[in-house]
Amino acid sequence: MTRRVSIFGATGSIGCSTIDLIERDPEAFEVVALTGGRNVDLLARQAKALGAEVAVTAHEECLADLREALSGTGIEVAAGEAALTDAARRPADWVMSAIVGAAGLPPGLAALEQGATLALANKESLVTAGPLILGTARDHGATVLPVDSEHSAVFQALVGEDMAAVERVIITASGGAFRDWPIDKLASATLEEASSHPNWDMGQRITIDSASMFNKALELIETREFFGVRPDQIEVIVHPQSLIHALVGFNDGALMAHVGPPDMRHAIGYALNWPERKPLPVERLDLARIGQLEFRAPEDARYPALRLAREVMEAGGMAGAVFNAAKETALDGFIAHRLGFMDMAGVVEGVLTELSGDTGLMSAAFTLDNVRAADHMARIRAEEIISGAKTPKRSATWT
Ligand code: NAD
Ligand code: MG
Repeated sequence: MTRRVSIFGATGSIGCSTIDLIERDPEAFEVVALTGGRNVDLLARQAKALGAEVAVTAHEECLADLREALSGTGIEVAAGEAALTDAARRPADWVMSAIVGAAGLPPGLAALEQGATLALANKESLVTAGPLILGTARDHGATVLPVDSEHSAVFQALVGEDMAAVERVIITASGGAFRDWPIDKLASATLEEASSHPNWDMGQRITIDSASMFNKALELIETREFFGVRPDQIEVIVHPQSLIHALVGFNDGALMAHVGPPDMRHAIGYALNWPERKPLPVERLDLARIGQLEFRAPEDARYPALRLAREVMEAGGMAGAVFNAAKETALDGFIAHRLGFMDMAGVVEGVLTELSGDTGLMSAAFTLDNVRAADHMARIRAEEIISGAKTPKRSATWT
């Protein structure tokens, strides 16, 4: 039986890996929607190769190019935020959520509303709106499967287990590009240095977030939301080889570790084939050749993002949406050379401190509108802090 699948963020790192797996077994899948950003040529090539029903670019100004690239193929084209959500409403059995950032939330919700199985690479959905995502899935008999490698690992370690017997969940972190740098050098880290990852080949944003551990900070919150464990039950450990992705500790002292190559096609393929396991084209590890696995505790001074994530989990409510939006804005600031690498955490902390005083906002109900409002306010405040940090007060120079 063929399965109808859609891929949101098809042109990105996760999207391309998903397509790689689908193309190996074309008879098994019927492709409904593929979406991308400005990379219209790639999106059009993917849509033709897979015979998609519709191709959607996030940007209205790219529509004409997409239409031209797909003219005569019979593949529908569309553009813009609303078109992304409309595409997610098309009936599909399995939907990959691999847009980067908070923009991934609305199409993910729409896919759940039509009862699809949502393979969730977009961790921002759970960080900003965990209760909304999981509640929508419950209300519509839909399923959410983790694709983030650590969460897929935890999910796999929990098969057949009773959550009541779980004592702790340990997610591993490679430590990112700067794990061995002297801490006092981090402030001067460049964009180029932050954009290369020692173990994983990923999109630029998540690669920089790995160097700062904002990625692991998001994953701490994602773990709490996905598995319903308490914050004090979740640990982060630096594991430079990235071969153990996560461990689950049980009340009898056992630790179940998930070991595999650093290749996202494993976690994507597990979600694609779930609840079955099927052969996947990933490396088979030779442990004798690898010889050793290392572990170390993450240093607080190197990775302030982890402390902030714990404060966010403590606060609950809209703190996750505020945290993520402030982080996205600070990351834009770093990419645009408006902020130093270590300034990002300061911006995020400043926004969290300020908005935590707004109890109406922070304890608002989990609706898409409220999450968007919290996201919006956090972006404005972060932008103010970033421009304030860069631009000297005018009155000081004009008087
Ligand atoms: P990427 O930057 O390589 O790709 C992002 C995709 O989203 C592209 O198709 C892009 O066109 C699209 N996109 C970007 N901004 C958009 C917007 N505003 N609206 C609509 N579409 C937009 O990113 P990636 O590395 O593939 O990561 C995708 C998601 O998966 C992220 O949430 C990331 O945290 C998560 N993730 C990635 C990896 C990895 O190995 N790359 C691992 C775990 C989790
Ligand atoms: Mg991860």
